[in-house]
Amino acid sequence: MSELRPYRLSDEQIALRDAVRTVARERIAPRAAEVDQLAEFPWDNKELLASQDILALPFPERYGGLGADLLTVCLAIEALSAACATTGLILAVHELASLPIVSKGSDEQCQRWLPDLAAGRTLISFAITESGAGSDAGSIAMRATRDGDDYVLDGAKRFITQGSVADLVVVFAVSDPGAKRHRNLSCFVVETNRPGFSVGRLEHKMGIRGSPTAELLFDAVRVPAANRIGAEGEGFAIAMSTFERSRPGIAAQAVGIAQGALEFAAHYATERIQFGKPIAELQMVQALLADMDASTEAARQLLYAACAAIEAGDGDAARWAAVCKLVAGDTAMRVTTDAVQVLGGYGYLGEFPVERMMRDAKITQLYEGTQQIQRLVVARSLLARS
Ligand SMILES: Cc1cc2nc3c(=O)[nH]c(=O)nc-3n(C[C@H](O)[C@H](O)[C@H](O)COP(=O)(O)OP(=O)(O)OC[C@H]3O[C@@H](n4cnc5c(N)ncnc54)[C@H](O)[C@@H]3O)c2cc1C
Repeated sequence: MSELRPYRLSDEQIALRDAVRTVARERIAPRAAEVDQLAEFPWDNKELLASQDILALPFPERYGGLGADLLTVCLAIEALSAACATTGLILAVHELASLPIVSKGSDEQCQRWLPDLAAGRTLISFAITESGAGSDAGSIAMRATRDGDDYVLDGAKRFITQGSVADLVVVFAVSDPGAKRHRNLSCFVVETNRPGFSVGRLEHKMGIRGSPTAELLFDAVRVPAANRIGAEGEGFAIAMSTFERSRPGIAAQAVGIAQGALEFAAHYATERIQFGKPIAELQMVQALLADMDASTEAARQLLYAACAAIEAGDGDAARWAAVCKLVAGDTAMRVTTDAVQVLGGYGYLGEFPVERMMRDAKITQLYEGTQQIQRLVVARSLLARS
């Protein structure tokens, strides 16, 4: 049974959130429109996050990280995403893709990969989706064939965030074709400089355009068995438990995007004059802004409660992760759409950031499980309790 746990931001969390907000406002926001227009990975922002130790947040201290809890990581993702959703996603994916190693990797594997990731010297991506396996992750076709002390990986992954710029890719592949569905997958860390690995197409996207979304091709890529995370056949379970901690990161990205759009729209409303006065004085505009504020705050509070519950080891982490992503994703889409409305025709122009924010918001309803999949998870949990 999921229980609401009281939470309160600690002084440390507030200080970190405020520090990341300052970095986001002063160093990331000014280039957010350009990152979107160029549709190129913002290496400068990645270096900034590394130099400010923001990329170190999700990693245990013994491997060079800051050992931050889930809520703290989400506070940072939220603050970054309010300025630039692409940059918030750099931290979210760093956390997502490292989770299998952090939670299921051996000490040797953690020593091998985590210190460089925590320092931001390397990047990592998470590859489960294939052209024929989206929501139905259990239908993965990629094969991992055991050959002595190695596995040989063959197949292709699609839609992999930062797959073209990563040094490591966490890959899920069928290691035992005879095993039952959901018991046939294993999880591997693949160094992208291995022979046989290549990047295929890069997707042209509606939003988060600075974040490369890549097709990854594996043509007889040989990896040592020492690169397998967890036991053979444990891959599907590792992927699902990863989502229980990573979906709040996408909810945080969504809350950040909504907050960024709300702030811009509210400020604009105080400056735009129609009928001889600022539109902020018109009650229908006030109602739009009030609804945007109320729903963003509701999504934020649910996200923070979910983080506290998951961190405390709640038995129904999957539900918490799904409810907060579901509510935050829908909130971001509605709030950014309303922000465009507050700006009227100007909101529709690329000149103002709410147009980009509305495009960016859409992805939070799609990746790491669509909103329909989140509803399935919530309903499954609800009905199991009834
Ligand atoms: C920009 C971007 C970045 C991404 N990054 C990554 C990444 O880094 N790593 C990675 O592995 N994947 C990534 N993905 C893939 C993403 O997670 C999938 O696109 C998503 O899970 C949906 O899969 P699909 O696109 O194949 O849609 P489909 O599964 O084909 O779904 C199509 C529609 O059917 C609905 N649907 C499907 N099954 C059900 C069901 N059982 N009940 C009700 N409705 C259902 C869906 O909700 C959706 O509306 C990314 C995708 C995008 C667009």
